[in-house]
Amino acid sequence: MIQPGDDGYDEARTVYNAMIDRRPAVVVRPTGAADVMAAVDFAREHDLVIAVKGGGHNVAGNAVCDGGLQIDLCNMTSVRVDTEARTVHVGPGARLGDVDHETAPLGLVAPAGVVSITGVAGLALGGGFGYLCRKHGLTIDNLRSIDLVTAQGELVHASAERNPDLFWGVRGGSGNFGIVTNFEFALHELEGVLAGLLIYPAAEAHSVVRSWWEHAANAPDELSVWLNFSTAAPEPFIPEVYHGKRILSVIPIFSGAVEDGWEAIAPFKKLGTLLADTVEPWRFVEWQQAFDASYPAGERYFWKSHNFKSPSAEALDCITDHAISPPTPETRVSVTHLGGAVNRVPSDATAYPHRDADFLVNITTRWQSPNQDDACIGWTREYFEALAPTRPVEPT
Ligand SMILES: Cc1cc2nc3c(=O)[nH]c(=O)nc-3n(C[C@H](O)[C@H](O)[C@H](O)COP(=O)(O)OP(=O)(O)OC[C@H]3O[C@@H](n4cnc5c(N)ncnc54)[C@H](O)[C@@H]3O)c2cc1C
Repeated sequence: MIQPGDDGYDEARTVYNAMIDRRPAVVVRPTGAADVMAAVDFAREHDLVIAVKGGGHNVAGNAVCDGGLQIDLCNMTSVRVDTEARTVHVGPGARLGDVDHETAPLGLVAPAGVVSITGVAGLALGGGFGYLCRKHGLTIDNLRSIDLVTAQGELVHASAERNPDLFWGVRGGSGNFGIVTNFEFALHELEGVLAGLLIYPAAEAHSVVRSWWEHAANAPDELSVWLNFSTAAPEPFIPEVYHGKRILSVIPIFSGAVEDGWEAIAPFKKLGTLLADTVEPWRFVEWQQAFDASYPAGERYFWKSHNFKSPSAEALDCITDHAISPPTPETRVSVTHLGGAVNRVPSDATAYPHRDADFLVNITTRWQSPNQDDACIGWTREYFEALAPTRPVEPT
């Protein structure tokens, strides 16, 4: 238990986004489900608001509250692979990298997200998209069971067979049903991927994005092709004249046989003037960390996202217009390729509402100084509102 003034209090209440500065009355760090039950009982008896911190990556800061009880799960990070059942049991404080660390040496993977320090819990409860979702579905589509402490302080198990209503709700319904103390995910065989950056200049971004979608809309499930608008770092593989300039990275990730991957990726190398091509075979666990440095913890962030289905040329242009003229060089706009197995799960099978989406646009505005808050938040909202009429998917 940690209280204001104790060593570690500030560390415990700190989350990914430096915009969030909340002060819980007390922080507890359970080591197992029994402690979580005791904490929930205590909060209920003393009428305290509860905030639950998994990896603390939720940009809205829901992992921390003012004046209430924060349950910080950072001591519950165990990851155990069951090689016979082909599943992995994951503690709710584990990060994505903790899971990959245990599964990768076995040539196995639990489909999750793309930055290795993100918490498993918040990601898995919200849906969970990553490089393998077109092939294997969302993280929730690979969830086999959970253990959860209810608001009454009871420990229950939920799966397709036991407490199926609760299992339906936690798959996409986020942390609204209780506190998960164990996740069980299905594992898939995967050693490596063919992946990398295909970099184009911002001046050609409109036509590159339109051509990207012509090809990406017909890609096989093994191929995901993401986009990332960023400002070029002084990397040796990027021509010097583009350093510090806005660029568009087309990012193919092929998870089938490498020899088939070269052919599947080839059209994406011809979308415009290719400035750099870093596509090569990667161990999947290493590729999973490739963007860690691009999304550092402790910066100021304001994020918004929209799902799209069958985008019009107008929608693609609108995405591009704003993405190439951000308020700060650190701001990135990423486009996550969905479809495939994500779309094939019926929309009423889980609480996740966006089954129809072809792709997701993430506006990830980032800056350092509080003086920039208004401008950066304003720009993000304007961008988000400009995209709305271009026909994003409504929740079904
Ligand atoms: C850099 C970065 C990269 C990301 N990449 C991806 C990505 O590739 N794919 C993707 O799908 N998402 C991605 N996200 C979004 C991410 O999934 C969410 O921010 C998610 O909330 C992170 O989980 P967390 O445990 O770290 O969050 P936290 O902030 O700890 O928690 C998020 C929410 O879940 C609740 N919660 C946490 N643990 C539990 C629990 N055990 N039981 C019940 N409720 C709980 C919290 O109370 C809070 O409301 C990314 C976010 C960041 C910042």
